[in-house]
Amino acid sequence: MRPLSLPRVPLRDLDLGELEKLAVSLGEPSYRARQLAGWLYANAAVDPADLSNLPKPFAEKLAGNHAVNSLSLVSKIISEHDRSIKYLLRTSDGHFLETVLILTRSRRTVCLSTQIGCKMGCRFCASGKEGLLRHLSCGEILDQIAWVQRDSGGPVTNLVYMGMGEPLDNYEAVIKSIRIANAPWAYEIGQRRITVSTVGVVPGIRRLAGEGLGQIKLCFSLHSPDQEIRSRLIPSNRKYSLDDIVKALRETREKFKRRITMEYILIRDLTDRDSDLKKLAAICRTLDAKVNLIPYNCVEDVEYRRPSPEKIAAFQNGLEREGVRTTVRYSAGQDISAACGQLRLAEERKSRPAK
Ligand code: SAH
Repeated sequence: MRPLSLPRVPLRDLDLGELEKLAVSLGEPSYRARQLAGWLYANAAVDPADLSNLPKPFAEKLAGNHAVNSLSLVSKIISEHDRSIKYLLRTSDGHFLETVLILTRSRRTVCLSTQIGCKMGCRFCASGKEGLLRHLSCGEILDQIAWVQRDSGGPVTNLVYMGMGEPLDNYEAVIKSIRIANAPWAYEIGQRRITVSTVGVVPGIRRLAGEGLGQIKLCFSLHSPDQEIRSRLIPSNRKYSLDDIVKALRETREKFKRRITMEYILIRDLTDRDSDLKKLAAICRTLDAKVNLIPYNCVEDVEYRRPSPEKIAAFQNGLEREGVRTTVRYSAGQDISAACGQLRLAEERKSRPAK
């Protein structure tokens, strides 16, 4: 018997070689690993009963120490505005996390969480309000995709690592999850359909550049080109300054085959000034980067405001005039508070006695 205190290892924590070793250690031929992977990935198994076509003794032995899915589905909300779906999931140790399915005509994109909470402490972000509780494992990251696939009844075509947490602060688990998601025996989601967004963890950027994952899309959450204002908005900017991040991006630039995207939250009177526009454009030119403007989404207890639509349009046009390709992203599912961790924060607070 398994000691009660040991959590089951999510099967999606294991790559193909590890699944093969596991099969052999349970007295099965190694080809069982591929069969199992078929159930886990193409068939989105979330429960031991979903492995019904595997030999029964094998399935039973597997269930001893391993979890077909380490997360449970708590609730979901469908946006009336754009049909995106937000899932609230719970880990086996009782934490809540959010995963969003964003539907467009040709894509089914999943926005993945990588940590419970976040230690970056960005002033404008609901995810970091209570600090980092823990990292998610590779399996917990991939189990989010299985739930979305299972519930929505369709394959996932694109991944964005833009949910709760800082992906490059949970480096190993995130990279392993990308490699598995990309693998032909698992989800086979092309690198070009995978986006990683970072607040700018310098050693993580340099390491990522050496992974041979050059086709993935890298986004950098720049948010202000002013060292002092950026540090106020993003405390980690005191550790990894904007200058150091831009230097790391410049030095690793040729390893990333695609244009880097600068994410830029427009906050009224703080990041939307003409001087910001000029400095932002200069940085983008040195990196040959494009810009994705994100009008600020209001978060409880935070005093920032979103600029007017005219101001947003003027900022976009101004950047274009400076020669910088610029898009505006209105976050999906605004009516279901899809932006970063807001739903989960409410749930964690509910399940805890008031301070
Ligand atoms: N930690 C990573 C990924 C998570 S957040 C990063 O910082 O890039 C995904 C994007 O949503 C980031 O650009 C983040 O800054 C932005 N974001 C967070 N809170 C927001 C808010 N209240 N309004 C608009 N964008 C927000």
